[in-house]
Amino acid sequence: MKMRKIFLAMVAIFLFAGTAFAAPNAAELKKMSTFISNFTELGFLNVTASHIARPGHYADAVFFGVWHNYVNNYHATIAQCHVENCQYGGLTIKAADAERSVKRYFGVSVKMNKSANHVGQLFHYADSKFHFEGADGDTTYYAKITKLEINSDNTNIYTARGIIFNADVPSEIYGDFTAHFKSQMWQGKKTYVLIDIRTRQR
Ligand SMILES: [Zn+2]
Repeated sequence: MKMRKIFLAMVAIFLFAGTAFAAPNAAELKKMSTFISNFTELGFLNVTASHIARPGHYADAVFFGVWHNYVNNYHATIAQCHVENCQYGGLTIKAADAERSVKRYFGVSVKMNKSANHVGQLFHYADSKFHFEGADGDTTYYAKITKLEINSDNTNIYTARGIIFNADVPSEIYGDFTAHFKSQMWQGKKTYVLIDIRTRQR
């Protein structure tokens, strides 16, 4: 009897919210946390898609596009540089691969056709590729969503809140984030695209 009451109460909440969509389940929430972690693992704890879209922030776009693939798609996208005595580093990536990642994660088209210097790290552009040097990053941060709201006017827009934690020491919490993002279809799969993320350090 008690279970039934709880069930009816839940049904009432969903009807009350006027929902024609399914609330995200645990697996989808985990997917969303992974999506947010794609930014935080590269140190993008405070960023907006409109920031990445500005020509003056080209180096941020290149850094995200190259480093996302360096961390997540190394074997598919990163190649050894075959230019003899190349002074720009031992690795290359097609600029198109970096562009694609920025488009997928920020929903922004950035034409990558020139070199970029991101906080002292050089991405040298030549022949449709970036030449760069690999590196081990500092602390890697991941995100975990603890609260998700679905926009009542547009059910494809989400507001997520949660924690940013040290990927190697998950009990070490760096801060609290709020992120807005949308769902999208990407190459036939449902994925997400960032609007913005803000983080407050604890
Ligand atoms: Zn090279």
